[in-house]
Amino acid sequence: MRLSTPRGPLLIALCCVGLLGWRPAWADALPMTEAAPGVYLDQGVQEVAAPENQGHIANIGFIVGNERVAVIDTGGTYAEGLALRAAVRRVTDLPIAYVILTHVHPDHVLGAAAFEQDRPEFIGHANLADALARRGEHYRERALADLGEAAEGTRLVVPGSSVAGTRELDLGGRTLELRAHPTAHTNNDLSILDRQTGTWWLSDLLFVDRIPVIDGSLLGWLRELDTIDQGPALRLVPGHGGVPADRYAAVAAQRRYLQAVAAGVRAVLRRQGTIEEAVDSVGLAESGNWLLFDDYHRRNVTAAFVELEWE
Ligand SMILES: [Zn+2]
Repeated sequence: MRLSTPRGPLLIALCCVGLLGWRPAWADALPMTEAAPGVYLDQGVQEVAAPENQGHIANIGFIVGNERVAVIDTGGTYAEGLALRAAVRRVTDLPIAYVILTHVHPDHVLGAAAFEQDRPEFIGHANLADALARRGEHYRERALADLGEAAEGTRLVVPGSSVAGTRELDLGGRTLELRAHPTAHTNNDLSILDRQTGTWWLSDLLFVDRIPVIDGSLLGWLRELDTIDQGPALRLVPGHGGVPADRYAAVAAQRRYLQAVAAGVRAVLRRQGTIEEAVDSVGLAESGNWLLFDDYHRRNVTAAFVELEWE
């Protein structure tokens, strides 16, 4: 290799990192981007949680009003929650009054304890506390096993406040509208609409580029996508992937995938095929359209089969 190639400095840098030892990427604040004025987002990587990404695979962030801050999701570890908190403090000294947990999945909720020092109101869907009671400890143990040192200190926080239907949060000159959705991605999906900027933080009700994961109801999710299309937002914030330039196209892509799974599973059921046949044949044409397809598609078909078997 010629020394003049740009790889030289990179190799030296990598050697130095090796010599200095591994250091968590978020000993400091997360690098936030502003999805809209006052709406801060840090996009997780499109990977399965692993030591290399320290569990930072979900989109998390916060919204700043004139008087208060609302945090939306807290990341997959206590350390990630602390890095998000540091990012808030870089932007504002206003109190963190609310921490909203959009649903039970570990990459969204396991950083919550980092905000206990702020004594915020922790808020979730009316079904979230039950879901955390059933799965939370397992998620925490798995994070410790899978992520090792990066997950140290991670512990569960069960929201003291729940939303069934809708609720408004006043951040001072800025109102957030929380909406508890019927079963879709999970049975405890909560979304946040920032009326001031028309930003609708859907979390995992919307996946962009990364394959959607069915942990609630395939048919319920398809219905909810229609509701989302009718909503008044200017932009959507997904739980994974970037803020789409065209909100309808992003929803349409997800709908197309879910419909392909539903149609394929129904065809197998009509000819009295087995769940194995469904898993081996349904929806494979979608393979090239989604990241992490091999990690989650078969599980989605299995979930769809169980749901549609007796319809
Ligand atoms: Zn999720």
